Amino acid sequence: MTEKVVIIGSGPAGHTAAIYAARANLNPLMFEGIQAGGQLTTTTVIENFPGFQEGINGMELMTKMKEQSLHAGVRILSEEIHSVQLSSRPFKVKSQTQELESETLIIATGATAKKLNIPGEEQFWQRGISACAVCDGALPAFRNKVLVVIGGGDSAAEEALHLSRFGSKIYLIHRRDQLRASQIMQKRLLKNPKIEIIWNTVVTEAKGQKILESVNLKNVQNGEIKNLACSGLFYAIGHTPNTNFLKNQILLDKEGFIITQSNSTKTSIKGVFACGDVQDRYWKQAITAAGTGCMAALETERFLTGVD
Ligand code: NDP
Repeated sequence: MTEKVVIIGSGPAGHTAAIYAARANLNPLMFEGIQAGGQLTTTTVIENFPGFQEGINGMELMTKMKEQSLHAGVRILSEEIHSVQLSSRPFKVKSQTQELESETLIIATGATAKKLNIPGEEQFWQRGISACAVCDGALPAFRNKVLVVIGGGDSAAEEALHLSRFGSKIYLIHRRDQLRASQIMQKRLLKNPKIEIIWNTVVTEAKGQKILESVNLKNVQNGEIKNLACSGLFYAIGHTPNTNFLKNQILLDKEGFIITQSNSTKTSIKGVFACGDVQDRYWKQAITAAGTGCMAALETERFLTGVD
């Protein structure tokens, strides 16, 4: 049997696409992968997803999305897709245990925040270390505290500026003596009295007892190591899209993000749609991922009914 729609990935983009596709009678099959629920399952409280005034735990939000998908009739397999064949339709997708065909494909495999792999990183991940200041910055643990951001791009600038509304002092640690961030973001950073940039420096260790209490910083020019007391450490060193299984099959940008058409989830292959962080190196929010998931399902339906 050829499936109408196979959805790969189970974050907010995948589940929104699944709910819409099921309600459109497309009988979608989702491969939820091994880390079901995606990046949100590794965060703590989510306070910026509409409908949850008191905030909601990331795992709980993704459990609710999965329940809603199941309720809508989505079939969900807890397997990862290892390879796809997109050169002709129906497309072929292959997991560990099966190979099947589908008329269309919605790719929602997300991205993974880059880490540094330094001592203390795993121990204090979500106990002071976060890869999303926009999600976590306003939490009580970070209010009126010294906070550290790593990176020199627009995300780092944006995160430092965002955190300056909550923290008492924000240090931006950058490994070079020049920022990659746009001029306008640089100006805003330099004008903000709460933000101090520490140049030519990398974070080498996260330290604490139960939660993060300090970081070790190394000056890359003279090798000097200093300890800096802080309550929060925010990574803004980029994301890696989860597209290894798509190499040579579909158009990716130089960092591996799927290229989609403007204001659309259409990819370089007709009948293959991409939504969420796997095609978004810019906004990277649960709600924007959900929005593009909705677009992907609607565009899939239009494609299958010959409207588009
Ligand atoms: P970028 O790739 O632009 O920047 C990553 C930063 O992290 C760089 O400064 C890089 O240093 C640094 N970095 C990478 N790896 C390490 C490491 N191992 N140790 C220390 N530092 C490291 O990613 P962003 O997420 O900032 O931005 C992605 C895209 O999204 C960009 O196109 C950006 O313009 C856009 N964006 C725009 C925003 C806006 O305009 N409001 C907001 C957010 C993102 P180095 O510079 O030395 O390479």
